[in-house]
Parts: sequence; C-alpha cells; structure tokens
Amino acid sequence: TETRTRDGELRARAARVIPGGMYGHMLVNEHTMPPSFPQFYDRGEGALTWDVDGNRYIDFLCSFGPMLLGHRNPRVDAAAAAQQALGDTLTGPSARMVELAEVLTGTIAHADWAMFAKNGTDATSMGIRIARAATGKAKFLKAAVAYHGANDWFTPRTAGVTDADRANIVEFEYNDVASLRAAVAAHSGEIAAIIVTPFRHDAFVPQELVDPAFARAAREAATAEGAALLLDEVRTGFRLDVRGAWESLGVRPDLTAFSKALANGYPIAALVGTDALSAAASEVYVTGSFWSSAVPMAAGIATIREAVALDAPALTRSAGARFKAGLEAQSVAAGMPLELTGPEQMPLLVFADDVHKKRAFAFTDAAIRRGVLLHPWHNMFLSTAHTDEVVDEALLRTQDAFDELTQLDV
Ligand code: PMP
Repeated sequence: TETRTRDGELRARAARVIPGGMYGHMLVNEHTMPPSFPQFYDRGEGALTWDVDGNRYIDFLCSFGPMLLGHRNPRVDAAAAAQQALGDTLTGPSARMVELAEVLTGTIAHADWAMFAKNGTDATSMGIRIARAATGKAKFLKAAVAYHGANDWFTPRTAGVTDADRANIVEFEYNDVASLRAAVAAHSGEIAAIIVTPFRHDAFVPQELVDPAFARAAREAATAEGAALLLDEVRTGFRLDVRGAWESLGVRPDLTAFSKALANGYPIAALVGTDALSAAASEVYVTGSFWSSAVPMAAGIATIREAVALDAPALTRSAGARFKAGLEAQSVAAGMPLELTGPEQMPLLVFADDVHKKRAFAFTDAAIRRGVLLHPWHNMFLSTAHTDEVVDEALLRTQDAFDELTQLDV
C-alpha cells in the first residue's frame, strides 16, 4: 500500500519556490499524469526506482531515456568515480574528451568527428548552426509536431517565443515522401538542413517506424539541395543500433545529435558529423561553462563500450518484446485491447478506442499503484537491467491492474 505524504509536501513547498511547482515535460499534475504518478524520487538501482515516500517501482521510463544500462550501473559509476577523484570541471578538457570522440567515431558509422555539450537541445541547435555556416542558407526542414528540443525554434509551447524565432522552419509530414518533396521544392535553394528523428515518436499518438523509402528520400533531398541531413538520435541513441539508427537501411546522415543514454544518466550531449562539415564545425562558436567537464565523458566512454559489448539494442529489444507480448495478451483477455507501438525497446501504449486517454490514465494509475512505473502518453524505455525476471514481475503486477480495471469497468 503506497503512500504519497512526502511527495505531497514537496509539491506544496515547490509551488512556493519553483514557478508552477515544476516545468517542462517533468511537470506532474492532474492534467498531465494519472494521480498516482510521483513527482519526486529518492533513488534508483538497476531497473528499479523509489519515490520519496519509499514506494518501489519497476521503472519503464528509465529517466525518459538516459538509463540504458540501469540506474547506478557499476561499470559506468566506477569510471565516473575514478574521474571524479581527479577532478570534473577543470580549466580545460581532460584526455577523456579525445578518448570519447575516438570511441564515438569508432562506433557511429558516419562519424568522423565529435563535439560535446550538455543537453539534447544543445546538440540539435549546434547541428543547425553548423549546417547554416556550411551552406550560407537559413531555413531548415522538420517534421510537423516532432520534438527536437526546448529552444526558441523547437519548443512546443509558444509562450515567450516570437514569429521571427520560427521564421526559418519549414514543416513536412513524417513518413510522407510527397510532403517532404513538396516542402523541399517550395524552398529550394534556401535550405541549410533537414532534421529528422529515426522513427516517429510523437507523444499521444501511435508511434511509427520509419518507411525506408522516406529515409532514402530525406537523404536524396538533402544531397540534391546541398543541405545537411541531421538525424536527431537524442531519444533513440544506443537503443536502436549502436552504429546509427538508419545504418541497417543504408542511409547515413551528415550530422547526428546524441544525449540521454550517451553516458547512462551523466549530463552530456554530442554532435557527430562527417569530414565535409568539419570546417564549418570548427568555425561556429559553441561552448558552455560545463561543456568540457570530464566525469560525464568518462561515464560516456564506459557506457558506449558496455552498450557495444552487451549489444544493448538487442537486449532492450528482447526485453521490450517480452513486455509487449505479455501486456498485449493481458489486455485482450481483459477485453480492453492495447498495442505497444513503435520499437519494442521504446514502446508507447495505445488502447483501442481511447481518444481521450481515459483508459490509458486509468490503467497506468492502477499499474503505478502496484509498483510498475508506466506512462499514459509518452514512449517508455527498456534498459539492459530489465531481465526476464524483472519483466515477468512487472507482468504479474499489470495483470492485477487489469483485474482492477475490469471490476471498475473503466
Ligand atoms: N530531441 C529529441 C528527439 C528528444 O527526445 C529530446 C528530449 N526529450 C531533445 C531533442 C531535447 O533534449 P534535451 O531535453 O536534453 O535538451
């Protein structure tokens, strides 16, 4: 029986000293999340996390992506601790910066160089700036709705943003070759970059794997325009394919943005690119007070090595497949079918005939009260710590959640 006392107290205190009590995608309230979803957390261990009231959860959100190898992964934490003992933010970068760039260029198929920052938004913004520096063009193409960060161009909420901030954005429909080609044709000669995610992972709607013809069309359009193809792997990085998400399609971008899972939770982002863009990349001015800090770089080296050694994409995919099969079967038996859409390792749950998400909220609420942290409208994440035993324990608890729902007739 879970309690919410400390969480409630912290929310009340936060409301006094933090605008809105919380901001951005981590805002938890009655409009955004089911009632049982915790706002504040104490700790994590492998596939588990505990909220500030001591409630234990099997964590299918994995910090919204960073936790690829499980919370407090011993190898990553040991590498970080060894660097911490030497210093983190020194007067300049440590050797870890060069080593991490070598690991990335040795792992990501198209990468000839790497630059580092803190957040995914830093990496996507830097990519656009480098593309503009290289081409002398201003506009960039993005899929409608697709999220690429919180800056003035990308933020989904327009409070505090001017039309001028958005003036150089041209939108197309994801997976729609004709709309992509029409957008290119309408702005031909003015396009610096096409930014795109490896699959369609918009919130609230079913996820869609990429149509290989669409990926190829994006590559061809960028090449024909002399624009950069910028793949936003902030969310997908090291979960789909360690060589790059579109490598198995034979489509190589010019630039790729990473963050989230890159250092298993330590704060770092990377932009990698091809030789053709290295001159422009060396001309732009990009920096930050903490961008050369060494601890996250040491963690990143350990994370990528471990992700490659374990084959993290294969492990998280099979864990996700087990979860998907179990959950979908339970949902059918309960008479309220749901689908886990998108790649198995990053599923988004969608109930049939649930346009207002009532069932998704009721089910995730019931699961959370039983110690399974799920999300009603955003994609979730598997980690390599989600063993068969962990997934099976989660499925016992979700069966119980479905039993409650059938009795309540939600
Ligand atoms: N691109 C994608 C696809 C993302 O999912 C996110 C973060 N959710 C970002 C960019 C922005 O990353 P950050 O929040 O670290 O700035």
